[in-house]
Amino acid sequence: MQHTIHFKISSTQALNNSTLQKNLQHTKGLFVDKRKKALEEFPPFEDLRTQAAQIKESVLNNLDEWLIKFEQQALENGCEVLWASDANEACKLVADICQQNNAKKVIKSKSMLSEEIRLNNHLIKNNIEVIETDLGEYVLQLANEPPSHIVAPMVHMSRKQVANLFSKHHQTPYTTNIQKLTLEARKQLRKHFLSADIGITGANFLIAETGSALVVENEGNARLCMSLPKTRIILSGIEKVIPNAQAATLMTALLPRSATGQKISNYVSISTRVHQKTEKGEDGPTRVIYILIDAGRSQLLKKDTRDMLRCIRCGACMNHCPVYQNIGGHSYGWVYPGPMGSVLTPYYLGLKQAKELPFSATMCGACDEVCPVKIPLTRLLRDLRHKITHKEGGKTIENYHFLHGIGYAKKDGVTNLLPVSVV
Ligand code: SF4
Repeated sequence: MQHTIHFKISSTQALNNSTLQKNLQHTKGLFVDKRKKALEEFPPFEDLRTQAAQIKESVLNNLDEWLIKFEQQALENGCEVLWASDANEACKLVADICQQNNAKKVIKSKSMLSEEIRLNNHLIKNNIEVIETDLGEYVLQLANEPPSHIVAPMVHMSRKQVANLFSKHHQTPYTTNIQKLTLEARKQLRKHFLSADIGITGANFLIAETGSALVVENEGNARLCMSLPKTRIILSGIEKVIPNAQAATLMTALLPRSATGQKISNYVSISTRVHQKTEKGEDGPTRVIYILIDAGRSQLLKKDTRDMLRCIRCGACMNHCPVYQNIGGHSYGWVYPGPMGSVLTPYYLGLKQAKELPFSATMCGACDEVCPVKIPLTRLLRDLRHKITHKEGGKTIENYHFLHGIGYAKKDGVTNLLPVSVV
């Protein structure tokens, strides 16, 4: 459910929520410090960042050709490729595949795109059991809450909150021992891995040259989702395609360092073909279906917004954003929080639905500095501010801030940060 229209109310509530504020204290700086250390130990980072931006840019300039190349290769590998123009179509395709397989249960690894299209709701309405297998997503499924971060979905929750949930849902003795809690989740999830009919994963990158999907993760659950059930569905936005394995190597050097400060994620899986009859053993799916989803992406291909499609969903912009750090992800009201969400959400849901989000940034430029693919987030936010302001009757940006109580003002021809009372 979207609550983007209520950003001001929900962010104020977040600031007044002492439990959330305490939980956010634990995480503030955590990812920031780890990323900083990882970069100090990896001098090529800045050069690779430039290269990554160029690679993504050149693919986006000819996205249709790269997608066709990927499709041809994936078909040659024995996979199927389906296309969805919007969320409804994507959900329907997944439900149809479940029906064809007489599937009663699907296991999923973390996929923000599946959150975006509200896949779980659709499947549940079709009487299909959905089990989230990423630990954070599993906890959130029990809590009936959406993720608050694109990499660490339950970063807003405390250990005690998780302990309470597990004790209630698993009917087990209350414990805050992290090892015991993770073992408990593992025990619960294992039976689902072994009994699911279909596995659904996202893809961090689609490699055009080989028709492969690359998935990075830390828990090994995505690898089980992609290898245990005989049918696998891969959900991907159309912007995820990259040219070749060399580009994939470059991206996987940038992504984990930017996200969590890791040199490499615990698991990097590249899947290419369906299980071949000639292969030894029975591991691996015999049917692999890619669902390539537009859902507003192609309208961002316009010159002034194309940069945003370079996003590799690392979360660094939100980790470094002083607004996100203080209000957490739920305040933004939809799947994508922080600076990247404040650009994507108005385009995906419409300016009217998300008109406060582009103003939810201090414009300090930290997001621009850390983005591994050099997305000019502050420029994109400023453009959106212009669009929204003009729709609201051509007021100047400075006046807009004043009218919305943010406290910037133009005085004597100079824009300053001023207390609203002075303005
Ligand atoms: S906009 Fe850049 S920093 Fe933010 S999630 Fe995307 S790639 Fe990462």
